[in-house]
Amino acid sequence: MHLELSEEQEAVRRLAADFVAREVAPHVVAWDRAEEVDRGIVKKLGDLGFLGLTIPEEYGGSGGDHLAYCLVTEELGRGDSSVRGIVSVSLGLVAKTLAAWGTEEQKRAWLPRLTAGEALGCFGLTEPGTGSDAGNLATRAVRDGDGYRLTGTKTFITNGTWADLALVFARTGDAPGHRGVSAFLVPTDTPGLTRRPIHGKLGLRGQATAELVLEDVRVPARALLGPEGKGFTVAMSALAKGRMSVAAGCVGIAQAALDAAVRYAGEREQFGKPIASYQLVQELLSDIAVDVEAARLLTWRVADLIDRGRDFATAASQAKLYASEAAVRCANNALQVFGGYGYIDEYPVGKLLRDARVMTLYEGTSQIQKLIIGRALTGISAF
Ligand code: FAD
Repeated sequence: MHLELSEEQEAVRRLAADFVAREVAPHVVAWDRAEEVDRGIVKKLGDLGFLGLTIPEEYGGSGGDHLAYCLVTEELGRGDSSVRGIVSVSLGLVAKTLAAWGTEEQKRAWLPRLTAGEALGCFGLTEPGTGSDAGNLATRAVRDGDGYRLTGTKTFITNGTWADLALVFARTGDAPGHRGVSAFLVPTDTPGLTRRPIHGKLGLRGQATAELVLEDVRVPARALLGPEGKGFTVAMSALAKGRMSVAAGCVGIAQAALDAAVRYAGEREQFGKPIASYQLVQELLSDIAVDVEAARLLTWRVADLIDRGRDFATAASQAKLYASEAAVRCANNALQVFGGYGYIDEYPVGKLLRDARVMTLYEGTSQIQKLIIGRALTGISAF
């Protein structure tokens, strides 16, 4: 195994790190307090090619492999998870799914705009009554001439109030459970679609999270993404790759926690010496460092499996499970190193902990990842 990055991968990592230092880091506290990232960041992400990674150039993408995508995601997560999430959803869950399942017409219609950051995507799976049991969703798509009419409510939708395109999962026909689900590309300016911002989140406060209400939203037949009745397969294929992206974002959080804690421990003095000189503080630092490396290697392994065309779904669940739990532990340990200052938002570690916490919940909770891994080990579904 080659664990060294190529020159190209190093260059893309540096590009992302420089972007974060210049365009993100100076605003992180203000955006978090205002509960809104500056929307101009979307176009800037597009201009640098970060919204087109792994997408073929013929559709406006910037190409690159999944490891490069992980590196960019990690750097963005190191800077601000709210910014990282914009990319993970618009590119990771929407554009990549469109590239994999879309018709030529669908790809030409949306991918150039999504990759350029001229349009933003959101992923509408979760509903007020169905989260982990997503296959049981209640939103309906009823045949209407040569199109469909969609009615239902989606909640907790990242990029929701900003998005131009919603990938919406709805029930077509009477087949029970996930077999009756189909995927639709719904422009958010379609009559009947309204959006309500969700405020007061514990973390990811800069992100535009929303509830989407669909009341008799009419879409043409060409809005169907993938075959009718295969929508759950579309959603699960999106989430499997999405979990790699979440894991990479968690590595970024954990690395940021390590950097901040090491720096602070060297500067802060108590009992006449830097706190870095105390064994119990070094234990906190070394616990963080081991978590960072383990989470990174599990995540890179997923990228490598995808790039070599191998099965990666269980590895993605393992990486997402480990990296998300590790990010919470690392941010919490870093907060301990900061003492009382860690509890104040002028210092970075409190936000890292708040942002990390949701990573164990979305794109499948930690319990759901364990059930996926358990099913792969035993052949028995315990859902
Ligand atoms: P529930 O499914 O009600 O789970 C509650 C608890 O029960 C959890 O601990 C869970 O692990 C446990 N549980 C449930 N079933 C089982 C079981 N069989 N065995 C053991 N334990 C179980 N969704 C989208 O579609 N698009 C988005 O862009 C999006 N962004 C989000 C952003 C944020 C900030 C948040 C908070 C959520 C987002 N979500 C999004 C929704 C997210 O994916 C769901 O919250 C998640 O899937 C969990 O669903 P739930 O919240 O309904 O919890």
